[in-house]
Amino acid sequence: MKIIKTPKEMTSLVRGLRKKNKKIGFVPTMGYLHQGHLSLIREAKKNNDIVIVSIFVNPTQFALGEDYNKYPRDLKADVKKAKSAGCDIIFNPSVRSMYLKNPLTYVGVSGLSEVMCGSSRPNHFKGVATICTKLFNIIAPDIAYFGQKDYQQAIIIRQLVSDLNMNLRIKIMPIVREKNGLAMSSRNKYLNSKQRESASTLYRSLKHAKALIRSGEKNSSNVKRAIKKTLLKEKYTLIEYIKIVSPDLLIDKKKIDSKVLIALAVKINKTRLIDNILV
Ligand code: AMP
Repeated sequence: MKIIKTPKEMTSLVRGLRKKNKKIGFVPTMGYLHQGHLSLIREAKKNNDIVIVSIFVNPTQFALGEDYNKYPRDLKADVKKAKSAGCDIIFNPSVRSMYLKNPLTYVGVSGLSEVMCGSSRPNHFKGVATICTKLFNIIAPDIAYFGQKDYQQAIIIRQLVSDLNMNLRIKIMPIVREKNGLAMSSRNKYLNSKQRESASTLYRSLKHAKALIRSGEKNSSNVKRAIKKTLLKEKYTLIEYIKIVSPDLLIDKKKIDSKVLIALAVKINKTRLIDNILV
């Protein structure tokens, strides 16, 4: 498996692969890989000749005071895990090589980026859309794989690809969870074992909401109230949002009369966690 450190080397390697008509699957990550990431890599391996995984903690998607500096990093372990899941090439550039001095161009997807996580993290999706555009330009993949765990991110990227006529497909893969239901995330490292148990309440509340809707509840306020009640049973839980929205445009749904996305952002102690379910 190759580890590539600069955009220039990456582009030239990809050019060679293209000449050989290789189909390229791409999995963008910030590293500290877990089974959620590996599920994307395995899927990419199934459908492509070559799998490229980027490992890059992207500074422009973190606001001041967020966890950019303490975000967990372990390249050595990541290389091993990625290889075992079928990765052929790791792209692990430095911040300096990705962001040349004084960049003036950013990519923004309006509307979708301003709701849900965008309300509390105003520039987050601009950072995400910009880094994905850059990575897609460097790697020129046929298919890029994203997790439903970050649902809003995935549909923003899908919109971006469509709006800007980018020549690739976006595939969204299901959420991989711990045994207790907690969605896997690199940030779970911040939780001690008690907090991990508390954090399983996110998925419990979502499953309960799904059951309520399945049994005929159509009023979003009632469903949200039930979620809140479940979440607040755990100590140290701070709810940032509980949203019930249309899955395509993320528009608030007062009445549940078609498919909806239920999405949560919750802080357990100081760790911000997100989760969602489609019903
Ligand atoms: P990250 O390294 O957190 O930026 O995540 C990289 C990719 O892995 C994103 O597309 C995430 O949505 C996806 N991902 C993260 N956690 C999970 C999970 N538990 N299940 C499936 N995909 C995930």
